[in-house]
Amino acid sequence: MVRPVIAGNWKMNKTVAEAIDFASRLRNALITPPEPEVIIAPPFTALHAVAELLRGSPISLAAQNLHEAEKGAFTGEISGEMIREAGCEYVIIGHSERRTLFGEGDERISRKLRAALSADLRPIFCIGESLREREEGQMQNVVERQLKEGLNNLTAGDISRSLVAYEPVWAIGTGRTATPAQAEEVHQLIRDWIAGRYGNEQAAEMAILYGGSVTPKNIADLMRQPNINGALVGGASLDVGSFIQLLGY
Ligand code: PEP
Repeated sequence: MVRPVIAGNWKMNKTVAEAIDFASRLRNALITPPEPEVIIAPPFTALHAVAELLRGSPISLAAQNLHEAEKGAFTGEISGEMIREAGCEYVIIGHSERRTLFGEGDERISRKLRAALSADLRPIFCIGESLREREEGQMQNVVERQLKEGLNNLTAGDISRSLVAYEPVWAIGTGRTATPAQAEEVHQLIRDWIAGRYGNEQAAEMAILYGGSVTPKNIADLMRQPNINGALVGGASLDVGSFIQLLGY
Protein backbone atom coordinates (compact mmCIF):
# COMPACT_ATOMS: atom_id res chain seq x y z
CA MET A 1 0.00 0.00 0.00
CA VAL A 2 1.53 3.31 -1.10
CA ARG A 3 1.20 6.21 1.31
CA PRO A 4 -0.55 9.06 -0.53
CA VAL A 5 1.44 12.22 -1.19
CA ILE A 6 0.14 15.76 -1.66
CA ALA A 7 2.80 18.14 -2.94
CA GLY A 8 2.44 21.88 -3.52
CA ASN A 9 4.55 23.41 -6.27
CA TRP A 10 4.69 27.15 -5.66
CA LYS A 11 6.64 27.92 -8.84
CA MET A 12 7.97 31.51 -8.85
CA ASN A 13 5.65 32.71 -6.10
CA LYS A 14 6.11 33.94 -2.52
CA THR A 15 8.84 35.99 -0.88
CA VAL A 16 10.67 34.56 2.12
CA ALA A 17 8.26 36.39 4.46
CA GLU A 18 5.22 35.01 2.61
CA ALA A 19 6.68 31.51 2.58
CA ILE A 20 7.31 31.64 6.33
CA ASP A 21 3.79 32.84 6.96
CA PHE A 22 2.33 29.98 4.87
CA ALA A 23 4.58 27.35 6.46
CA SER A 24 3.81 28.41 10.02
CA ARG A 25 0.06 28.36 9.36
CA LEU A 26 0.35 24.95 7.75
CA ARG A 27 2.44 23.60 10.60
CA ASN A 28 -0.06 24.85 13.17
CA ALA A 29 -2.93 23.27 11.24
CA LEU A 30 -1.20 19.87 11.10
CA ILE A 31 -0.62 19.21 14.78
CA THR A 32 -2.11 15.80 14.11
CA PRO A 33 -0.24 14.48 11.05
CA PRO A 34 -2.64 13.96 8.13
CA GLU A 35 -2.92 10.68 6.23
CA PRO A 36 -0.97 11.84 3.19
CA GLU A 37 2.67 12.79 3.20
CA VAL A 38 2.72 16.58 2.80
CA ILE A 39 5.36 18.30 0.68
CA ILE A 40 5.75 21.95 -0.23
CA ALA A 41 8.10 23.27 -2.90
CA PRO A 42 8.90 26.94 -2.26
CA PRO A 43 11.32 28.89 -4.48
CA PHE A 44 15.03 28.41 -3.74
CA THR A 45 15.32 31.66 -1.79
CA ALA A 46 12.85 30.49 0.87
CA LEU A 47 14.01 26.89 1.29
CA HIS A 48 16.39 27.32 4.20
CA ALA A 49 14.13 29.55 6.27
CA VAL A 50 11.12 27.28 5.68
CA ALA A 51 13.19 24.18 6.51
CA GLU A 52 14.14 25.69 9.86
CA LEU A 53 10.53 26.49 10.59
CA LEU A 54 9.31 23.01 9.63
CA ARG A 55 11.96 21.09 11.57
CA GLY A 56 10.22 18.35 13.58
CA SER A 57 6.92 18.79 11.71
CA PRO A 58 5.29 16.22 9.40
CA ILE A 59 5.81 18.53 6.40
CA SER A 60 8.62 17.83 3.94
CA LEU A 61 10.34 20.21 1.62
CA ALA A 62 11.07 19.98 -2.10
CA ALA A 63 13.09 22.17 -4.44
CA GLN A 64 11.61 22.87 -7.88
CA ASN A 65 14.72 22.13 -9.92
CA LEU A 66 18.44 21.46 -9.66
CA HIS A 67 21.50 21.57 -11.87
CA GLU A 68 22.97 18.22 -12.80
CA ALA A 69 26.60 19.10 -12.02
CA GLU A 70 27.99 18.80 -8.51
CA LYS A 71 29.59 22.25 -8.63
CA GLY A 72 31.39 24.58 -11.00
CA ALA A 73 31.05 27.48 -13.41
CA PHE A 74 27.28 27.42 -13.88
CA THR A 75 26.21 30.96 -13.05
CA GLY A 76 22.76 31.11 -11.53
CA GLU A 77 22.40 27.38 -10.94
CA ILE A 78 21.91 25.34 -7.75
CA SER A 79 23.31 21.86 -7.05
CA GLY A 80 21.76 18.85 -5.35
CA GLU A 81 24.11 19.15 -2.40
CA MET A 82 23.05 22.78 -1.87
CA ILE A 83 19.40 21.79 -1.95
CA ARG A 84 19.94 18.93 0.47
CA GLU A 85 21.87 21.20 2.82
CA ALA A 86 19.10 23.80 2.65
CA GLY A 87 16.81 21.15 4.18
CA CYS A 88 15.07 19.45 1.25
CA GLU A 89 14.28 15.79 0.99
CA TYR A 90 12.69 16.02 -2.48
CA VAL A 91 13.26 17.80 -5.77
CA ILE A 92 10.86 18.23 -8.70
CA ILE A 93 12.51 17.26 -11.98
CA GLY A 94 11.28 17.53 -15.56
CA HIS A 95 8.30 19.80 -14.88
CA SER A 96 6.67 20.73 -18.19
CA GLU A 97 7.56 24.39 -17.62
CA ARG A 98 11.23 23.36 -17.42
CA ARG A 99 10.80 21.26 -20.55
CA THR A 100 8.98 23.86 -22.63
CA LEU A 101 10.19 27.24 -21.31
CA PHE A 102 13.77 26.27 -20.48
CA GLY A 103 14.45 23.68 -23.17
CA GLU A 104 15.09 20.70 -20.91
CA GLY A 105 14.99 17.47 -22.89
CA ASP A 106 14.81 13.86 -21.78
CA GLU A 107 18.58 13.39 -21.73
CA ARG A 108 19.20 16.40 -19.50
CA ILE A 109 16.34 15.38 -17.25
CA SER A 110 17.88 11.94 -16.91
CA ARG A 111 21.15 13.52 -15.76
CA LYS A 112 19.22 15.63 -13.27
CA LEU A 113 17.50 12.55 -11.88
CA ARG A 114 20.86 10.88 -11.35
CA ALA A 115 22.29 14.04 -9.75
CA ALA A 116 19.33 14.22 -7.37
CA LEU A 117 19.71 10.61 -6.29
CA SER A 118 23.46 10.99 -5.78
CA ALA A 119 22.77 13.99 -3.56
CA ASP A 120 20.41 11.82 -1.50
CA LEU A 121 17.34 13.68 -2.73
CA ARG A 122 14.14 11.93 -3.74
CA PRO A 123 13.10 13.04 -7.25
CA ILE A 124 9.51 13.83 -8.18
CA PHE A 125 9.87 13.04 -11.87
CA CYS A 126 7.26 14.82 -14.03
CA ILE A 127 6.06 13.49 -17.36
CA GLY A 128 3.06 14.15 -19.56
CA GLU A 129 1.91 14.76 -23.11
CA SER A 130 0.85 18.02 -24.77
CA LEU A 131 -2.66 18.55 -26.12
CA ARG A 132 -1.42 18.09 -29.68
CA GLU A 133 0.30 14.82 -28.78
CA ARG A 134 -2.88 13.55 -27.14
CA GLU A 135 -5.02 14.58 -30.09
CA GLU A 136 -2.62 12.87 -32.48
CA GLY A 137 -2.93 9.63 -30.48
CA GLN A 138 0.66 9.90 -29.23
CA MET A 139 -0.02 9.98 -25.47
CA GLN A 140 1.27 6.47 -24.76
CA ASN A 141 4.37 6.88 -26.95
CA VAL A 142 5.27 10.18 -25.31
CA VAL A 143 4.78 8.96 -21.75
CA GLU A 144 6.73 5.76 -22.41
CA ARG A 145 9.53 7.66 -24.13
CA GLN A 146 9.81 10.10 -21.22
CA LEU A 147 9.94 7.18 -18.77
CA LYS A 148 12.50 5.25 -20.81
CA GLU A 149 14.79 8.20 -21.47
CA GLY A 150 14.40 9.81 -18.06
CA LEU A 151 14.87 6.68 -15.99
CA ASN A 152 17.70 5.45 -18.23
CA ASN A 153 20.43 3.83 -16.10
CA LEU A 154 18.51 4.02 -12.83
CA THR A 155 18.64 0.94 -10.62
CA ALA A 156 15.74 -0.66 -8.78
CA GLY A 157 17.11 1.01 -5.61
CA ASP A 158 16.95 4.41 -7.33
CA ILE A 159 13.41 3.71 -8.46
CA SER A 160 12.30 2.90 -4.94
CA ARG A 161 13.41 6.44 -3.92
CA SER A 162 11.66 8.11 -6.86
CA LEU A 163 8.11 9.36 -7.39
CA VAL A 164 6.49 9.95 -10.77
CA ALA A 165 4.05 12.78 -11.42
CA TYR A 166 1.81 12.45 -14.46
CA GLU A 167 1.04 16.00 -15.52
CA PRO A 168 -0.69 16.31 -18.88
CA VAL A 169 0.58 19.64 -20.21
CA TRP A 170 -2.90 20.61 -21.36
CA ALA A 171 -4.16 20.41 -17.77
CA ILE A 172 -1.45 22.47 -16.06
CA GLY A 173 -2.66 25.90 -14.98
CA THR A 174 -5.53 25.74 -17.48
CA GLY A 175 -8.42 24.81 -15.19
CA ARG A 176 -8.96 21.81 -17.48
CA THR A 177 -8.35 18.76 -15.26
CA ALA A 178 -8.00 15.30 -16.75
CA THR A 179 -11.06 13.26 -15.85
CA PRO A 180 -10.38 10.63 -13.20
CA ALA A 181 -10.72 7.97 -15.93
CA GLN A 182 -8.26 9.73 -18.25
CA ALA A 183 -5.73 10.13 -15.44
CA GLU A 184 -6.21 6.56 -14.19
CA GLU A 185 -5.59 5.18 -17.69
CA VAL A 186 -2.17 6.86 -17.83
CA HIS A 187 -1.29 6.02 -14.22
CA GLN A 188 -2.01 2.35 -14.95
CA LEU A 189 0.17 2.58 -18.03
CA ILE A 190 3.02 4.11 -15.99
CA ARG A 191 2.74 1.42 -13.32
CA ASP A 192 2.71 -1.31 -15.94
CA TRP A 193 5.79 0.19 -17.57
CA ILE A 194 7.62 0.29 -14.21
CA ALA A 195 6.54 -3.31 -13.54
CA GLY A 196 7.84 -4.44 -16.93
CA ARG A 197 11.19 -2.78 -16.36
CA TYR A 198 11.75 -3.13 -12.60
CA GLY A 199 9.31 -5.77 -11.40
CA ASN A 200 5.89 -5.90 -9.79
CA GLU A 201 7.11 -5.06 -6.32
CA GLN A 202 8.82 -1.81 -7.37
CA ALA A 203 5.76 -0.86 -9.39
CA ALA A 204 3.34 -1.56 -6.56
CA GLU A 205 5.38 0.57 -4.15
CA MET A 206 5.82 3.57 -6.44
CA ALA A 207 3.87 6.74 -5.65
CA ILE A 208 2.42 8.05 -8.91
CA LEU A 209 0.98 11.55 -8.47
CA TYR A 210 -1.44 13.34 -10.77
CA GLY A 211 -0.94 17.03 -11.56
CA GLY A 212 -2.99 19.46 -13.62
CA SER A 213 -5.56 21.88 -12.21
CA VAL A 214 -6.17 19.85 -9.04
CA THR A 215 -8.45 21.74 -6.64
CA PRO A 216 -10.26 20.94 -3.38
CA LYS A 217 -13.33 20.26 -5.57
CA ASN A 218 -11.89 17.60 -7.87
CA ILE A 219 -9.24 15.93 -5.71
CA ALA A 220 -11.51 13.35 -4.06
CA ASP A 221 -12.59 11.78 -7.36
CA LEU A 222 -9.00 11.64 -8.56
CA MET A 223 -7.75 10.08 -5.31
CA ARG A 224 -10.39 7.35 -5.54
CA GLN A 225 -8.63 5.90 -8.60
CA PRO A 226 -6.58 2.84 -7.69
CA ASN A 227 -3.39 3.99 -9.41
CA ILE A 228 -3.47 7.62 -8.31
CA ASN A 229 -1.40 7.93 -5.14
CA GLY A 230 -1.44 11.66 -4.73
CA ALA A 231 -1.31 15.04 -6.38
CA LEU A 232 1.22 17.61 -7.45
CA VAL A 233 -0.63 20.90 -7.16
CA GLY A 234 0.31 24.31 -8.52
CA GLY A 235 -2.29 27.09 -8.29
CA ALA A 236 -4.41 25.58 -5.52
CA SER A 237 -1.35 25.09 -3.30
CA LEU A 238 -0.63 28.81 -3.03
CA ASP A 239 -3.39 29.59 -0.58
CA VAL A 240 -2.85 27.85 2.75
CA GLY A 241 -6.59 27.33 3.34
CA SER A 242 -7.04 25.65 -0.03
CA PHE A 243 -3.89 23.54 0.47
CA ILE A 244 -5.14 22.33 3.87
CA GLN A 245 -8.48 21.43 2.28
CA LEU A 246 -6.63 19.36 -0.35
CA LEU A 247 -4.94 17.35 2.39
CA GLY A 248 -8.32 16.12 3.60
CA TYR A 249 -9.27 15.33 -0.06
C1 PEP B 1 2.00 22.10 -11.67
O1 PEP B 1 2.56 23.16 -11.91
O2 PEP B 1 2.67 21.10 -11.38
C2 PEP B 1 0.54 22.09 -11.71
C3 PEP B 1 -0.05 20.94 -11.73
O3 PEP B 1 -0.09 23.31 -11.75
P1 PEP B 1 -1.69 23.56 -11.59
O4 PEP B 1 -2.15 22.76 -10.41
O5 PEP B 1 -1.82 25.03 -11.37
O6 PEP B 1 -2.32 23.09 -12.85
